[in-house]
Amino acid sequence: MKELIHRLRETRKLQPDEYKQLLTSLTKEEQEYLFLNAREVAQEQFSNGIFIRGLIELTNYCKNDCYYCGIRRSNDKAQRYRLTKEEVLESCEEGYRLGFRTFVMQGGEDDSYTPRVMVDIIKSIREKYPDCAITLSLGEKDYDTYKQYYDAGANRYLLRHESINAEHYASLHPQGMTIQTRSECLFNLKKIGFQTGSGIMVGSPNQTIDNIVEDILFLEELQPQMIGIGPYLPHKDTPFKDKEKGSLELTLIVVAILRLMHPYALIPSTTALATIADDGRDKGILAGANVVMPNLSPIRFRKKYLLYNDKACMDDEAAESLASLQKRLEKIGYTISYDRGDFRK
Ligand code: SF4
Repeated sequence: MKELIHRLRETRKLQPDEYKQLLTSLTKEEQEYLFLNAREVAQEQFSNGIFIRGLIELTNYCKNDCYYCGIRRSNDKAQRYRLTKEEVLESCEEGYRLGFRTFVMQGGEDDSYTPRVMVDIIKSIREKYPDCAITLSLGEKDYDTYKQYYDAGANRYLLRHESINAEHYASLHPQGMTIQTRSECLFNLKKIGFQTGSGIMVGSPNQTIDNIVEDILFLEELQPQMIGIGPYLPHKDTPFKDKEKGSLELTLIVVAILRLMHPYALIPSTTALATIADDGRDKGILAGANVVMPNLSPIRFRKKYLLYNDKACMDDEAAESLASLQKRLEKIGYTISYDRGDFRK
């Protein structure tokens, strides 16, 4: 197995059955060896700095009905909210004061934010904070809309593909949502010039190890600049409420494999990792992640943006707690990097 890990580090590529071996057959010691290699590769690029992104949860309205998601259209227990442009700008102001140089606007697919409304918000942030990166995570849009966002000053876009396997994708999403559309969106984003992020939930219902291998191969083809990987976590008001959560261990293995394949990529230690275990975020970093995304949404809305149960959004996941985040990072040999943290090769 160590030979496989070395080869992956050197060539950034393995055969499908070799990925499968790494995903299924590592001893504890070999896992640690994989993580060690992954963090060495991350440290070669980013030293011991961890980039921070201020996460602004724009809206929890969504026209879609993904079976795994707590803010899906059919969940009538969700308390819905939308941020106004002023509220977004207040969050940015607070974030800038705290030292954030990337703002991530994430939300459901909420058509009340028309292209005109979004362009206005993006332009306002761009004008006030010319030195900051603007990342969007607002779902599937047509080429022209993405282009308008880009031209208004957005730099990055996150859109997880969730599963490249059409059958598995269809088991997670209602009719009308297809992996073809999702993947077309991703290639459009790249074509327009966005630093583009994709990824999956590990352990999502019906996912097989072969599916994960397919996803790894898809990411190899897409070559995203950002890769978001988290464990699946259930939400009590969804059709998947009784499904098992994903495995922390397998999630970390996937993160480490992807780090070895994509040395320059920006890979967050996700909120889902921080939620599944108290030290989940630390473990993500020790498996090669190099980004964290503390929550910068107005505090009164944070508990409402629940994609899954028990989401970590306070304490070390809160933007106001950078001092305590710094302390935790120091304990594992890292430090906050206040750089904007663009993709560089
Ligand atoms: S996963 Fe995204 S698109 Fe699907 S219901 Fe949730 S917010 Fe909407």
